[in-house]
Amino acid sequence: MAQAAAVIPSAFLSRNHPLLSLLAHCGNSLSHIHCVHAQLIAAGLSSHPFAASHLIATILSSTSSSTGLSYADAIFNRTENPTLFTFNTLIKAHSSSFTPSLHFFRTLLLQSILPNQYTFVFLLNSPGITFFQAEQIRGQIFRRGLLSNVYVVNVLIRIYGILSEIKISRKLFDGFSPRDLISWNSLLGAYVNSGDVGTMRQVFDEMPSRDVISWSTAISGYVQAGFFAEALEFFHQMQISSRIMANEFTLTTLLAACASLVAVNQGKWIHTYVIKSKITINPKLLAGLIDMYAKCGELDLAYNVFEQENHWKQTICPWNAILGGFAIHGQSTAAINLFEKMTTAGVIPDKVTFVSLLQACSHGRLADEGKFYFNLMLKTYNIQPEIEHYGCMVDLLGRAGKLTEAEDFIFRMPIPPDAVIWGTLLSACRIHEENEMVGKIANIIKHLDSKYVGCQILLANIYSKSGNWTEAGRIRTNLIRTKILHKKKIPGCSSIELNGFFHQFLVGDRSHPQTKQIYAYLDDIISVRLNAAGYVPETREVLMNIDEEDKETAISRHSEKLAIALGLMSTTSGSIRIVKNLRVCRDCHHATKLISKVFSREIVVRDRIRFHHFKDGECSCRDFW
Ligand code: ZN
Ligand code: ZN
Repeated sequence: MAQAAAVIPSAFLSRNHPLLSLLAHCGNSLSHIHCVHAQLIAAGLSSHPFAASHLIATILSSTSSSTGLSYADAIFNRTENPTLFTFNTLIKAHSSSFTPSLHFFRTLLLQSILPNQYTFVFLLNSPGITFFQAEQIRGQIFRRGLLSNVYVVNVLIRIYGILSEIKISRKLFDGFSPRDLISWNSLLGAYVNSGDVGTMRQVFDEMPSRDVISWSTAISGYVQAGFFAEALEFFHQMQISSRIMANEFTLTTLLAACASLVAVNQGKWIHTYVIKSKITINPKLLAGLIDMYAKCGELDLAYNVFEQENHWKQTICPWNAILGGFAIHGQSTAAINLFEKMTTAGVIPDKVTFVSLLQACSHGRLADEGKFYFNLMLKTYNIQPEIEHYGCMVDLLGRAGKLTEAEDFIFRMPIPPDAVIWGTLLSACRIHEENEMVGKIANIIKHLDSKYVGCQILLANIYSKSGNWTEAGRIRTNLIRTKILHKKKIPGCSSIELNGFFHQFLVGDRSHPQTKQIYAYLDDIISVRLNAAGYVPETREVLMNIDEEDKETAISRHSEKLAIALGLMSTTSGSIRIVKNLRVCRDCHHATKLISKVFSREIVVRDRIRFHHFKDGECSCRDFW
C-alpha cells in the first residue's frame, strides 16, 4: 500500500532537486536507479507524484525489459495522485501490447484525468487493438475535440489500415486538413495493408512530397502483394528520381524480394550498397541478408555474413535466418550443430527456431533427433507446439517410413489436424507405397467438415491420381458451385534471372519473345539428349483427365523445363538457378537430374518446399521432397 508520506506540492519539487538530478546520471543502470529510489524513500518522497513520475520515466527509458516494466508498475501502484505525464509514460512503455496500455488508459479515466493527444497516440500505437476497441477510442477522441489534431488523425489513418478498414482511413484522410507528409505516408501504409497496390500507387503519385518512408512503404506494398520484380524496379526509380538514400527497412524489404525471385545478383548489389553507404546492419537487415543468400542457393555466403557480423550474436533473428537456410538446403547436421552452438551462447530459441530445426531433422531423415528436439521445445523452453511443429513431426515420421507412428501422433494431437497435416501423411504413404493407408486417410478426409477446403482438394487429387475422374470431378464441381474454389488453380510458375532480367514462365507459356527457339531447344533436349540417356517421362503426376500422349506433352511444357531450356540456351557455364512457386513434379525432377549430367551443369531449383541442387545426375534431396 501507499506510504503515508506527506505530499509536498509539486511547486516545491523540481527537476533541480538533488535526488531528481541524480536520476539523470543513472544511465541504463537499474542498480543506480535502485540507489536513488532508496534515497527518495528515505526522504519520504518516493510516492510524491512528481518524483514518482520522474523515477518511472527514468526506469522506462533505461530499459524495456519485463523486470524494468514490473519495477515501474510497482512504483506506479504506490504513487499518490499520479499525473497525466505518469500515465502517458506507462502507456507508451507498455505499447508492445494493447491490453496493458488499455488498462492504464482506463485507470486514468477512472481517476478523472483528462487524456491528451499523446495518450491517444501511445494507446493507438499498441499492437493488438481490435476494430471495436478502435471505434471506442475514436469516440473518446471525438468527444475531446482531438479529431483536429494531426498526430492523432495520422495514427488513426494508419490503424484503420491495419484493421483492413481502408474506407475509414480514406474518410479520415479526406476530411482532414492541413495534412502533412505523415498523413500521406499513413494513407499509403493503409493501402499497403489492404493489399490494394493499384490505389497505393495512385496515392504515391499524388503525394506533394516524398521521403524515405514513402518509398519504403510503397516498395513493401509491392513485396507484400507478391510483385517482387516491380518492387526492385520501383527501387531503381527511387534511385533515379530522388536523392533519397534507402534505409535499413527499405533494404530489408528489397532483400525479401530478391530472396523470393532468387535474384542473387541484385541481392549482392544490395549487400554492396549496404557496405558502401555505411548503413548500420541491424539484426533484421542482417537476417534479411542471410535469408537472401540462403534462399538464392548461396548457403556459404549466407554463413559468411552470419559469421562476419558477429556483434549481433545475442539476438535471435540472425540465428533463425541461418538455421532456416540449413533447413531448406537439407543440411541437418549443420542445423543441429548450430542449434547447440546457439544455446551454448545463451541465446534462447523461439518457436521459429524449432520449426527450422525440425524441418532440418526431417529433410535429413533424423527421426530420433527430431523427436528429441520436439520434446525439448516444451520441456526445457516451455514453448507450446503449434500446427507447424506438429506438421514437421508428421513429415519427419512419414519420411522415415514410420507411418503408423505418424498416424498415432496425429490422433494424439491436442489441436485438430488440418488439411496440411493429413496431406503430409498422405504424400509419405504415396512415396512408401502404403496404398491401404491412403484409402484410410481418404476416408478420414471425406468425413471432415467440408469447410476444410484444403482437405477436399486433396481428396479430389487422390481420386484423380487413382483414375477415378468421376469422383474427383464431383468434388471439384461442388467446390466451384459453393464458390469455395475458383475455377482457376494456382498456375505453376518458374522464373530465372539472366543478366539482371527476370524471365517468368507458366506451364505451356508462349509469351516469351524467344518462345520458338526455347520450344525447339527443349524438344531437342528431351527427344535427343535425354532419350539417349534413357529418359522415360513419368506421367503419373498429371492431374487431368487426358490420355497418355497429351499427358506427355503437358509434362514436357512444365514451367521449370522452359526456364531451364532458356538458361541452357543463354549461358555456357555456371549454375542455373530457377525458382518455382509449386512443388517440383516427379518428371521434372527426374529430367533435371539427367540434364545436369548430360550438360555437365549444376542446376539449383528452389520449389515451394525446399532446395534441389542437381549435379552429375543426382539431387541433394536424395529424391525425397
Ligand atoms: Zn513438372
Ligand atoms: Zn531434389
